[in-house]
This record gives sequence, structure tokens and C-alpha cells, in this order.
Amino acid sequence: MTWQPDGDAMARRDAGPSARIARRFASAARATLAGWRRRAGGRCAVCRGWCDDGLCACCAARFAFAHARCGGCALPFSPHPDEAFDARCGRCRRAPPAWSRAVAGVDYGYPWDRLLTSFKFHQRLDQVDVLLRPLLARLHESRETPATHVRVVAVPLARERLRERGYNQSWELARRLARALELEARADALFRVRDTGHQLGLQRAARAANLRGAFVVTPRHAAWVRGASIALVDDVLTTGATAQAATRTLLAAGARDVQVWVVARTPES
Ligand SMILES: [Zn+2]
Ligand SMILES: [Zn+2]
Repeated sequence: MTWQPDGDAMARRDAGPSARIARRFASAARATLAGWRRRAGGRCAVCRGWCDDGLCACCAARFAFAHARCGGCALPFSPHPDEAFDARCGRCRRAPPAWSRAVAGVDYGYPWDRLLTSFKFHQRLDQVDVLLRPLLARLHESRETPATHVRVVAVPLARERLRERGYNQSWELARRLARALELEARADALFRVRDTGHQLGLQRAARAANLRGAFVVTPRHAAWVRGASIALVDDVLTTGATAQAATRTLLAAGARDVQVWVVARTPES
């Protein structure tokens, strides 16, 4: 199984006006992957075996394989072959999320949980390239090539949290992803008004209430958001409550549509 994008094949398939964008996207993705390999320094992030691209072929095959996923909740889901790539599961058809599409690189589980924890809490910013690779590959494989007009934002941290940690892990992901895809990104377009604490102990309604008014689009970036297709980047998608609240804020500020791009999707328990 390979998760390296075959950009040329994709560009050939996509005859028509999108072919040029697809080719440009494919070459940007290839160049980025090659650059990441050079920087990876010879060790696999998972098994620590020697390899030249940060994640050895063996670990990539075991842990970074592509699931077919629902375009709404990003949970593994096998659509009928006749259905569009972006097919939805029954639950997302009945109750569509606020975003137009969710894309996840991998399931949240070994080894990604460990890599994400060290990236998020132990300053291991060097893990970011390996973490992003499955997501970048999924975005690349998708027939819905991210067009040049998509603008990238990250789920923001509250100010106190940012001060404690020193960086917003979602922005570290978002800005590298934007660079890889040659898209515009802004760190402070979306602002977190208050820390909402942990959501996991709360029931669905309490979660939504807790998040109401948690985000705002900063006035300085209102025009940048208005009418734009936005990609909202986060590390993990679990209940989706945070991403829904941020998506609704962006839509209320006039965004045309919002996609959610995450490194990992927590599987259903
Ligand atoms: Zn390995
Ligand atoms: Zn779904």
C-alpha cells in the first residue's frame, strides 16, 4: 500500500479546467514530501529504525493506510462504488454537520496518539511533518483538489493556554499545510474568546452551550473571511463540538463554506 500521491495520474484523470490546478497542487505536494524526507534525518518517528523519510515504509503501511471515510464525520465508512468520493454515512445524511467536508489523515490511536501528545505537550514540533503526511496524502487523493481560493485557519487556543504552551499546535499544523498546498493562511483570523475547558465529560447539549460565543472572527480579518472557502485545521476531531462552534462562527461571519482538516479522527468507542 502506498500513500504517496501519484500526482501525474491524478492530473491525467482530471481532464478539463481543473487539470492545471490539479497539476500545480500535485507538484507542490511532491516537492513538500521530498523536502520533508530530506529533513527527517534518517530515523522513523515510530520504530526509530533507519529510514530516509521520517516514517519507514513498514510503519507507513501499518499505521498510515487510507480508510474510506465519511465526508461528514470522517469516521471510516465504505460508500457504494457508484457514490461520489465524498459520500456521507447515514447519520451525516440525517443530521449534516455545519461544515461542508471533513478530512482526516488517520484514526486517533497508536502511534499517532503518542506522536500527537509529544507534539502538543512536549514541544516536539519536529513531529509535525510526519503527523501531516497522511492528511496531505488524503487531501491530495481527494478528487476535490483544494483550489487556490481555499483559505486556511486553525482552531485557536485561549490566550492563557497559549501562554502556558508557547504555541498553538493547530496553527503549527495549519501553517505548514498551507505552505505545502500553496494556500493563504492567517493565524489570528479566528480568535478564542475564552477557554472552554475539557468537553469530554459533558453531554452534547452542555457541550454546545459551553462553546457558544467561544470564537469570534477578528474585525481585522472579517473581509478575508467573508465569501471565502475556509479550511479549519485541528489536531484531532473527537466529538466535533469545537469544530462545529468554530465553523458556525466562520459561517456567521460570511464564509462561503468551511472544511475541517484534522490529523486524526477518534474512532467511535
Ligand atoms: Zn518505522
Ligand atoms: Zn458521517
